[in-house]
Amino acid sequence: MAALHDALTPVFDEVIRRNPGEAEFHQAVREVLESLGPVLGKRPEYADAEIIRRLCEPERQIIFRVPWVDDAGRVQLNRGFRVEFNSALGPYKGGIRFHPSVYLGIVKFLGFEQIFKNALTGMPIGGGKGGSDFDPKGRSDAEVMRFCQSFMTELYRHIGEHTDVPAGDIGVGGREIGYLFGQYKRITNRYESGVLTGKGITWGGSQVRTESTGYGTVFFVKEALAARGMDLEGRRVVVSGSGNVAIYATEKAQALGAKVVATSDSSGYVVDEAGIDLDLLKEIKNGHRGRVSDYAARRDSAHFVAGGSIWDVPCDIALPCATQNELDADAAAALVRNGCLIVAEGANMPTTPEATRVLREGGVVFAPGKAVNAGGVATSALEMQQNASRDSWSFEHTEQRLSEIMSSIHARCLETADEYGAPGDYVAGANIAGFTHVADAMLALGVI
Ligand code: NDP
Repeated sequence: MAALHDALTPVFDEVIRRNPGEAEFHQAVREVLESLGPVLGKRPEYADAEIIRRLCEPERQIIFRVPWVDDAGRVQLNRGFRVEFNSALGPYKGGIRFHPSVYLGIVKFLGFEQIFKNALTGMPIGGGKGGSDFDPKGRSDAEVMRFCQSFMTELYRHIGEHTDVPAGDIGVGGREIGYLFGQYKRITNRYESGVLTGKGITWGGSQVRTESTGYGTVFFVKEALAARGMDLEGRRVVVSGSGNVAIYATEKAQALGAKVVATSDSSGYVVDEAGIDLDLLKEIKNGHRGRVSDYAARRDSAHFVAGGSIWDVPCDIALPCATQNELDADAAAALVRNGCLIVAEGANMPTTPEATRVLREGGVVFAPGKAVNAGGVATSALEMQQNASRDSWSFEHTEQRLSEIMSSIHARCLETADEYGAPGDYVAGANIAGFTHVADAMLALGVI
């Protein structure tokens, strides 16, 4: 671990004391605080106003019971969360995750990251996150619908287009957003399109929202390569995960001339030296909610490895797009050994702190999720903009906006890193640029 600035050690100690047992939240806070030392020297007013301590404490944390009835008529029980972290820049904005691993510490880590990510986009959105320990895997559509309806029956009183605007995340895609929006509309008797993003195109959604996180990830990589006189043409790419972010990162990487040779899910990974057949992967994942092993079974050029580390597959570009802490120090060492050029995080905090250190010491360019995957939330903000003006833009126009936003996020990271004496350091650039933007707004709004 890198050292903390003297003034930040007590702040971090306080975070640990006030939030016991929330390891992922501690990790996310530490990662940001490690970048902020140089800022304190230049901007003493932040310390005077206790900006960093206030930023580490969510404005509001909601925990609720979610009872529902399964197809066999049995009552099931889950726990729901919404952490409304910071609204200095706009309404709370951030996804909802349905996964058995969800607990308060995961939601807080994601909500904390979201503050800086959203600030980096330059759009008027604050940070929040939500979720439940509900596992949609193996559940029927009717069960997912009843769960979503019960979840929204509590959540609706906390959200609104000017208050808090959830979206999808792991386990929450178009189907779930539909059921959640339907229940919100029914309870409130309002067609309030701007209350959720990731809606279907025919009922208030935006073009490119489904693709935006994955596409944005690749747009960021394109900028990072261009800054070093390189491009994506002919590059070998490994993408972990096979969900929303991974599939559209694969699609855009292939469209820009790269060859994606591996994909994964929580059961293992697939190597396909002929290049991933995206139509087949989409059919298996989106059509049948199947596994990557099904892909290997249907394609001669592919083989499935149960368990193991996808990062053993040699590549020029590694895109972790599955989940937190999926790329550890051993995986990082394998990437360095195999000559990887760049690791760009499509997922949130997929790289452990030790792995980040190994990559950087090994000369691999490392780009953090809060910059790389910000295209998703940026396009959600574009969806809110279209909803507010009762307008809908074309795919081409929306994709162009996304591409411009990613290019400006990339430039802001590099400029800020330069300004604070860490040239080329995307972690410092993203953390400091996001932090100063939200900190200035907090200063202006007073002690609230
Ligand atoms: P999905 O649910 O669509 O896909 C998640 C993928 O990751 C699945 O293939 C899943 O496999 C795999 N996965 C999940 N948990 C694990 C695990 N413990 N080990 C290995 N693989 C795992 O989610 P998204 O694609 O939406 O999200 C992926 C990441 O991107 C998350 O970190 C999310 O926070 C982040 N993100 C998403 C955004 C979005 O717009 N959707 C925006 C910004 C960030 P399996 O099916 O086997 O569980």
